[in-house]
Amino acid sequence: MVSPSYGARDAPLRPAEPFEKFSPPLANGERPAEPGAPFPLRLPSKALVFGGAPLEEQPKNVDPLVLELVNTKVVERGPPVQWSDIAGQVSVKAAIEEELVWPILRPGTYSGTSHPLRTLLLFGPRGTGKTLLSRCISTQLGSTLLRLSGTTLLSTWKAEAEKILQTVFFVANCRQPAVVLITEAESLLAARAGEDGSQVSNLKSQLLSYLDNVATSSEQNVVVIGTTARPGSIDEASHRRFGTRLYIPPPDGAARRHILRQALAQQSCCLSERELAALAQRTESFSGAELLRLCQHAGAARRALTGPPTCYQDLEKAFCKVRPAASQKELDLFLEWDKMYGTRH
Ligand code: ADP
Repeated sequence: MVSPSYGARDAPLRPAEPFEKFSPPLANGERPAEPGAPFPLRLPSKALVFGGAPLEEQPKNVDPLVLELVNTKVVERGPPVQWSDIAGQVSVKAAIEEELVWPILRPGTYSGTSHPLRTLLLFGPRGTGKTLLSRCISTQLGSTLLRLSGTTLLSTWKAEAEKILQTVFFVANCRQPAVVLITEAESLLAARAGEDGSQVSNLKSQLLSYLDNVATSSEQNVVVIGTTARPGSIDEASHRRFGTRLYIPPPDGAARRHILRQALAQQSCCLSERELAALAQRTESFSGAELLRLCQHAGAARRALTGPPTCYQDLEKAFCKVRPAASQKELDLFLEWDKMYGTRH
């Protein structure tokens, strides 16, 4: 669910956040780009470079059926996502905007010595908004979004996996600016995946070379985002190939309250502010997706009774059905991993 705008109804949350204070440095007389405006294309004069080969040589290698599959199943055509659609995650949003979005939207203004950030690993429990954030990044960059699940690639599309991965990056190059989102990235980058000459091992080296390529090529306006709920399964050499690794934790109390408020506003509901605060307190370590599920269960139970609006008791009952998937121990492991390998902690 993307539609509710977090922060719009509850004014106190956003203005107090550091995210709001960030203003991008602009060259004299320059106007900031509108969010969602495409970032400037800087295409090479002769031919686009893809995997070292000129783009004009590529089409004969691309299987039209795979191309069709990528265009219909991998290229996303969902609604735009704004920063305000994501509750909480204040420092993460600020870091992404500052380190990735603005340097791309305003090349030249950011004249750091290193190459601009093009590869990002988002890790954290399931349902905490990693995909939502990726879609938001794509919206902000005005880019085409190609979304591929590592697990689906290896299971459903196994026979064509290598061709599909190749075609995804081919399409991303053709449709620049583009964001390639690889969910469940650990299935392609698992430590053991590089050990034999198997298909997974080939896919892993293929993906790593694409990562290196987008990270170093000044010709490409392609960003690659990997997401994972199992960062520990990815070997160090692979996760270090991502320029930035950000922990996406479950929402904090204020963010939980926002998500709950917005979700309950979609249904007829009679919760007081005190009850909402109590609910936010009781749902510590729930992900955003689990909070939505909790509200859906409560609403469905009430509708089944064709009774009055959803009340606190309905939500209490829903706690029997919806529990946070991540245990405290697992959350501690994420924090530990973040301390060791995360970019910001
Ligand atoms: P992940 O990729 O981390 O598994 P998703 O981004 O797919 O999680 O989140 C699933 C859904 O949960 C989102 O589409 C959104 O409706 C909701 N959600 C999760 N986190 C948030 C958040 N911080 N703010 C608003 N909605 C959220």
